[in-house]
Order: sequence, then C-alpha cells, then structure tokens
Amino acid sequence: MIAGVLVQLSNKNVDRIFDYKVPKSLESKIKIGIRVEIPFGYQKLEGFVLEIKKETLNKTELKQIIGIIDEDIVLNEELLKLGKYIKEKTLSPLISCYQVMLPKALKAKKGVNVAKKYDIYYRLNLSKDDKLNSTQQKIIECFDNKELVKRENLLKVSLSSVKTLEQKNILIPVKKEHYRLSYKEKCEKKYTLTNDQQKVVDEVLAGEKNEVYLLWGVTGSGKTEVYMELIEEALNRGKTSIMLVPEISLTPQMIERFERRFGGKIAALHSALSEGEKYDEWRRIYRGEAKIVIGARSAIFAPLSNIGMIIIDEEHSDSYKQEDKAPRYSALDIAIKRGKINSCPVIMGSATPSLDSFARSEKNVYKLLTLPNRINGKNLPNVEIVDMNIEMKTKHSYFSRKLLEKIKEKLELEEQIILLLNRRGYSSFVTCKNCGYTEKCPNCDISLTYHKSSSILRCHYCGYATKLTTICSECHETSMTNLGVGTEKIEEELQKIFPLVNILRMDVDTTSRKGMHQKMITAFKDQKYNILLGTQIVAKGLDFENVTLVGVINADTSLNIPDFRSSENTFDLLSQVAGRSGRSTKTGEVIIQTFNPTHYAISYVKNHDYFGFYKKEMSIRKMLSYPPYYYLVYIKISGRDYNILKQEAEKIKKSLEKHLLHTIVLGPSPAFIFKVNNIYRYGIILKYKKEEKLYETLTLMDEHYKGNNSLKIEINFNPIHF
Ligand code: ADP
Ligand code: ZN
Repeated sequence: MIAGVLVQLSNKNVDRIFDYKVPKSLESKIKIGIRVEIPFGYQKLEGFVLEIKKETLNKTELKQIIGIIDEDIVLNEELLKLGKYIKEKTLSPLISCYQVMLPKALKAKKGVNVAKKYDIYYRLNLSKDDKLNSTQQKIIECFDNKELVKRENLLKVSLSSVKTLEQKNILIPVKKEHYRLSYKEKCEKKYTLTNDQQKVVDEVLAGEKNEVYLLWGVTGSGKTEVYMELIEEALNRGKTSIMLVPEISLTPQMIERFERRFGGKIAALHSALSEGEKYDEWRRIYRGEAKIVIGARSAIFAPLSNIGMIIIDEEHSDSYKQEDKAPRYSALDIAIKRGKINSCPVIMGSATPSLDSFARSEKNVYKLLTLPNRINGKNLPNVEIVDMNIEMKTKHSYFSRKLLEKIKEKLELEEQIILLLNRRGYSSFVTCKNCGYTEKCPNCDISLTYHKSSSILRCHYCGYATKLTTICSECHETSMTNLGVGTEKIEEELQKIFPLVNILRMDVDTTSRKGMHQKMITAFKDQKYNILLGTQIVAKGLDFENVTLVGVINADTSLNIPDFRSSENTFDLLSQVAGRSGRSTKTGEVIIQTFNPTHYAISYVKNHDYFGFYKKEMSIRKMLSYPPYYYLVYIKISGRDYNILKQEAEKIKKSLEKHLLHTIVLGPSPAFIFKVNNIYRYGIILKYKKEEKLYETLTLMDEHYKGNNSLKIEINFNPIHF
C-alpha cells in the first residue's frame, strides 16, 4: 500500500503530494484525511494522507510512514474538498488551506503540545455466582441502572473494595475524555416572533434549499432572535448549524444568549479560548456532540456534518476576510460553498450590508429579506451633526459646546453615555485645521499618505506624489497639520472637564487581558461608570438600556483613511454606534462631531438612510471603476534589494498588461508600509470585470518566482487592505 502525503511545511516548493510506503502493521489504520509522521529529508515531519494507492510513479525507493498521529481522521471529505476549493480561489499553497481549518493542537507547530484530559469510569460486569460483602454490595448499588459511574464516586464508598472488585474483573475501568469547557442546561422560553420576524423565518424555510439570503435589518430589529429560530428549526430536523459573528461582537453576552436557548448543544470558537479549550471544542463538534457552532472567521471550517443552516451576522465586517497570511480567503465565499455542498440556506445579516452584498441582492444573486423596524416599534435615535469648523473658530477643544451640554444633561439624569473616538491606527494623513480639507489623489480619490522621512504626500494605489506644504490648497491658511489623537488623550481632557465623573476607557490596550472585556461590560451595565469611551469596540453588539447619548468625537478620522471603502466604513461605523443609543424605554440621542458636515457618509447617518447612502456610494464606485463594479486583485512584491525589486515589479506589470487584455493594471507603487525589517514592498493593483485568463496568468507568475529567494510574491483577491 502506498500513501500520498501532503507535508506540513509552509514552503511553496514542497506544496505537492509525496508518496510513502505504508508498513503492513499500519495498513488497516491508514485512511484518507488522517495525520501521519513521515521522514522528510533529514527531519521527521507531519503530514496529511490525501491519497491511498497501489502504485507510484516515483522512480526512486520510497521511504516508509513512521506512524499515525491521531486515531481519527482530522480532515473529513467535506474539509478535503473545501481545501482544494480555497487553493483554487486564492492561489495559496494547499497545506496552508488545510492548516487554516484546524486548531493549533492539530497543526505541526513546535511548542504547542495540547493533551486530551480524561476521567476514569467503571462498567459493571457482575454474574450471579459472584459473592459480595456488604461494602462491595454498596458499591454495586451505586450503579442503579447506570451503565457507567465515575471512579471518584465509587471511591467515596471504599477505596480498597473498589480495588478488589477491579481485580476480580467485576468493575471494568473505562477511560472517558473530559472536556475543559462546559455549558449550562438550556433554560429560556423563547419570544413569540413579531410578524416581521416570522415572515423572514417563513421565507427562508419555504425557499430553495441552497439559497443565499441577505437579511437587512436595522439595529435592534430582532435579527439575532431570527437566527436562533432558524437554527432551532434546523435542529428539529436533525441538522447542525454554524453562526459566524465578528470577533469583536463575540462577547460573553452573545454566547450566554445561545447557551440559554440551546444549552450544551453549542460550541463556541473564539480567540479568548486557550488552545486546549479550542481543541476540545473542535472534537465535540467533530464527534457530533455539539450541533451549533458560534464563532469568528475560522469557525466556518468547523468539522460539522449534515449542516442545515449557515448564518453570518454583521456580514459587512472586514474581519471575515483573512488578509495577513495565506490563504487570503473570505469566510463568505466558504459559507456559500458549504451551503452548496450541504444543500442548505446561507443567511447574511446586517443593519448596513456591504455594498457588494447589497448590489448582489439587487441582482437577485442573494435574496433580500428585511426587518425595517426596531422591536416594540421604538424609533431610531435622533442624530445631530456638529460642524467642528465653526467650533474651532471660537474655542480649541476636542469637545463641542453641544456635546458638553448634552453630556451634562445626561449626567444629571443619571443616564449613561458612550463616546466613540473613531480612529483606526493610522495617523499619517494631513488635514487642514482651519477648513478640514484633506489632500487627495487626483487619480484615485483617496487621501494621500504622509511620508515623514521624505516629507511627501503619496497615493499608495497609483504612486502619485506631491510635496507636503503647510499651506492648505483649499482655504490658503497656513494650517495643514498631522492629525492623530488617541483615546488616552481624550480621557485625560474629559476628566479635566468632569473631575467627578467615572470614565471607563475601552480599547485594544485596556481589553487585551483575558476576561477584561467581560468585566468592563458588566461594570458598565451595573452603572459603575457614567461614560464609556472607546474605539470601534464600543460600537458593535452592545446592549445597555440606560445609554441615552452616543457622542462621536471625530467622525473624520476613518473618512480620511486612504482606502476607497473609507466612506462605506465610516457610514457603517457611525450607524452601528448610533444604534447603541436609546435601545430601551428612554429615547436616545446621537451627536456626531465632524469637519466634514456635508460629506454624504456623515449626512446620510442623520436620517438612518442606508439606501440613500448606498445609491450615492454606488455612483461613485461606478465612476472610479471600483467594486462592486470591478473586481480587484492586489499583488504584493517584496524583496531586500530595492533595485532588483523595482526592476522586477516593472517587468511583472508589463507581462500582466500583455496577458490580461481586459484588465486595468495600476502601479507598481510603493506599499503603504514601504519598508519593514529592511524588506521593501511594492504593490500592483488589477481591476477587471471579466478576465478569462486571470487565474492562468497569475499562476504562471507565481510559479515563475517560486524558487526565487530574493523576491516574494503575494496575491490577494478582493483585498481589504493594500
Ligand atoms: P438585533 O440582532 O437586530 O440587534 P436582537 O435580536 O438583539 O436585535 O433584538 C433586540 C432586543 O429585542 C433584544 O433585547 C431581544 O431580546 C428583543 N427581542 C427580539 N425579538 C423579540 C420578540 N419577538 N419579542 C420581544 N422581544 C424581542
Ligand atoms: Zn492615486
């Protein structure tokens, strides 16, 4: 017997199947999808068996498999299929496509050594002739029709008698795995759905088996309740479900809500779990003990069988695309693929669907479902936009008079406030302090990025560059400055104005410790703080009934990020955070501070007008040939030698232009972060509507540079970041 093995080594050159001889003793255990240990060069490595065959085309003597690592298959038929699909879609090494599906404990990585935990049970093997004394009789009574009893429980009666009975073969020990996590019993009676909710549920249940739906429902419209209903329906038909949520909204509240409804049938996969906990959850799913998986992006690979429902909440979230390493996949694509394989519906929900998804719903690729109203008919909060240009003329402060006045008012009423500092890491764009103008690229309509070392402003899409001046080209004042202020600074300023008020700051820095996020949410819910101040982390999924004011300190920060999606991201974020205000009986208010009060990404938030925003943004995307009208591919080329890199990047561009006749090729231009660890990076952007030769051409390019040690190529389809 010969096994074809894919080696767990991330190297493009070994991304193929190697044949090994299977020793006679292992023949009955070797199955497709199993993990094995193999000799590879001078090393011992791990791999997955992908083929079993009688003969090899290999001319040289084959080496033997050393042993199997787990008794069970780790990659079932569906996962094997998905891996190949991801490789095709993303042009990534096949091994990376399988590794992304598995918890660390099942990957060959030094330093991660996660063991299973066991409990010992006993089984009874009593025959009529066995004579027992009274203590032994007591032990036997513990079984009371139960098949297995935990060892600890019998030891409570008598250690020596248990030992004797074990020696006599009356008690047979059974090792059973013990999972690190446990869930409470289900305990919730469910709501009667509103008519709107019921309509959505009915439509999905009556629809085609593998239909893809877009559920567009305003914040607080009862989407989560609809998801749970659909999952329960699947469960009643003996089927399993996956629900994806962005990591950021995988709060303990969300998991608790599912636990109350479904008890121990759920498994949760997220970054707050230890490797051991993840491994256990994975096996509970694999073994069919957990039927409902809730998790972040990679939970789409949960090893469930017989899936009946796939749900993606907040479908517009960036977090569903893996950007930082191969395979650069989108969990939405994988969800749709699994929906097809399992012949089950896929539901993507959002209050602010991505443009791509909404456009697809308009073309009936996805079926549109809507929940236009908040539960209980509550209105969405009133939104007021404050023009900071006017504020700055009278007083230089991060807080407008209006916002301060409202904060005071709410504090007096003992109501709570959420403040968002809309800021995502970048500070390197330049804005006019006087008029709010930000220098943009004339070719790409995105903000230019300030490069401090060379003192120039550059477009990182097309490479356009201009010298930085301090004079604003719009209002001609000498007031261009490098903007960028963090949550810490805002907290300090706010505390100066309100010395007696309790402010809770929540951002990546303050929530990184395990359990902190949960603690903070509970403390705020218990009203131990008056004001919750934070980054995007405060914008999503939170539900505090006493919050009646949401303030956005500076709506422009995300607007000025050099990204063609910056308007969309700004609109989404502002709509999400606005949705945190007035969720209960008290009416909510929202104050948005901005230097761009007339910008459509901000003005459409005022009337909660998603559709208005959508139409406006689509017209701009069309004009500039961006998605969803065009597809994008980002090719990153990196290397140590600047001159070689530049030359090769130009060569690649020329070659792509020659082969891809229906594609716009932009660049090569220096990447946003141009030099990291002395490695230079260039980017080429492809824009196309339909390009038959795309995959073939990119594969050839990739192959061509495979063995090249001085140059690295990364291909990213439908990129989020450039
Ligand atoms: P969304 O996910 O759209 O933000 P949720 O499902 O969280 O909305 O619902 C918002 C609030 O309304 C929650 O507190 C939820 O428990 C409650 N809710 C949802 N559906 C119903 C219903 N049919 N009857 C009563 N309350 C409901
Ligand atoms: Zn440009």
